[in-house]
Amino acid sequence: MKIRQISFYRSNPIRCDCCGQSIRNVCEITAADGTIIHLGHDCYRKQITDGLSQLQKTKVQDAERAIRHWEDQKEVWETLTEDAYLKAAWKYGVQASEEYPYGASESFEELREWMLQSLIPARIKRAEAELVRSLPC
Ligand SMILES: [Zn+2]
Repeated sequence: MKIRQISFYRSNPIRCDCCGQSIRNVCEITAADGTIIHLGHDCYRKQITDGLSQLQKTKVQDAERAIRHWEDQKEVWETLTEDAYLKAAWKYGVQASEEYPYGASESFEELREWMLQSLIPARIKRAEAELVRSLPC
């Protein structure tokens, strides 16, 4: 199967297309011909990454780590308050200065919107594309 796209997300319980078990943490794979399959993480490992060489595995793990990092950032930003942000801006992946506490944005809300609507989705997309490129098929 030639893979066009892989994405990971949480959903209401659905069935894994491989083993039939109920899954919430879903790996959605779109094949080159447009076919979409949903796998639980165990089946994703068994079907997609277990047979790879060590070098390929390392690349795949780097991409998976980047995806997890940005998924975590998404969760942080969804509940982040302005106070918490100003106390620890460096923690949230944004270059902040005293003069421009919200970087290129005018306000915290604008910055938050940009993080959640632009930066984080773009970074996740890039890491997912990197993951697909790391797979030999
Ligand atoms: Zn399964």
